[in-house]
Amino acid sequence: MGSFRRISFGLKQAVRPEIEKVFASRLVDHVREHDFRLDLGALQLRLPRRFGLCHGVERAIQLAHETRLHFPDARLFLTDEIVHNPAVNRRLQQLGYRYLGGGYADGTTIDALGPDDVVVLPAFGAETPLIDRLRERGVQLVDTTCGEVMTVWKRVREYARDGFTTAIHGAPQHQETRATLSRADHEDPFLPQRLGARGAWIVVRDIGDARALARFIAGRDGAETLRERFDGCLSPGFDPASDLRRVGIANQTTMLAGETLKVQEIVRLAFVERYGEQGAATRLRLADTVCSATQDRQDALLALIDEPLDLLLVVGGYNSANTTHLAELARTHGVAAFHIEAAQCLHDRRTLHSWDAAARREMPLPGWWPAHAPVCIGVAAGASTPDARIGEVLLRLAQLADVAVPTLDAEPAGVAAMS
Ligand code: SF4
Repeated sequence: MGSFRRISFGLKQAVRPEIEKVFASRLVDHVREHDFRLDLGALQLRLPRRFGLCHGVERAIQLAHETRLHFPDARLFLTDEIVHNPAVNRRLQQLGYRYLGGGYADGTTIDALGPDDVVVLPAFGAETPLIDRLRERGVQLVDTTCGEVMTVWKRVREYARDGFTTAIHGAPQHQETRATLSRADHEDPFLPQRLGARGAWIVVRDIGDARALARFIAGRDGAETLRERFDGCLSPGFDPASDLRRVGIANQTTMLAGETLKVQEIVRLAFVERYGEQGAATRLRLADTVCSATQDRQDALLALIDEPLDLLLVVGGYNSANTTHLAELARTHGVAAFHIEAAQCLHDRRTLHSWDAAARREMPLPGWWPAHAPVCIGVAAGASTPDARIGEVLLRLAQLADVAVPTLDAEPAGVAAMS
């Protein structure tokens, strides 16, 4: 077996200048220092009080850079995207990382790895069967899994040990959800407590799924209806009749907090209908596992959109759940919100390119720039979006509005240069 490491190599100070050079933005620092506002005459920019990189993503980026320094001659791999932001993943490719899975995979298989190779596990964790295969190859493992994700693992393992089925509110294909569910039905050699028995699980994607689950629990729908609805979202051998008598709810850390609470209440009421208040209290466990960074960014966004804005841009990877949810949250409050990946999406004042959640692809959107002046634009960003990428968006907006930005020290190289 190779080594396993989850903590810093003590090289934080050594890698910091390089990380700041690529990911920081003097302009964004300036906006932070000026009450999160930038008034440029014809263009007014407003940022939420919490945005961009969270502690978990910062730690993953730092550990990946430290790993490069600690193993200067080793082949370096990631099991998948380290976080859901293209700029960050491209940066790691530049450092020599290769990807075993996901959109950046280069076809290298686990069978081709050996004890001299180093494999980094991403911030949202990796599935335990995959880790088992890597251990069999004897590779050196460096784990950047965020502590907030591991808190969810702990919760679902408690559910499994106590004979409760985990109902997780999340996206079934999201790496974090898959990694979490694997902790409910597999042993994890790096966690202190043994699981004992395989836990059952069900993935609840949204409110519609919560209602369908509630109908079964309350005895209004049969097992076949449930199986059809949750095809691909049930643990192997799932038996609705026995596996839904005792349920523990958790959620992917980056879900909309309000939706998670609604899911819990819908399921709770179904247990009360079926078993009464007392029965529900012993058969249902609830845990809100939205992480603090996601919660802070959602709260800050709500405060931002309390002010009148002409529109809101939310900057982040299109597969970033927390970024997608920020845009969704703003829209549910009547704000014209567009999820863009980078400054290049702001083609000109006629057209921007943004993520269309229904079509599941980037789409051109004509007529986005308001006809009046001054224009007031909010700019928010998901927890995996570096400041440099946000700064590029601010600069592009200033360019489109034909206004000058404050003169600051030279902007770091930024991520645009890597795109
Ligand atoms: S979004 Fe939350 S769970 Fe994910 S890395 Fe950041 S702090 Fe951790």
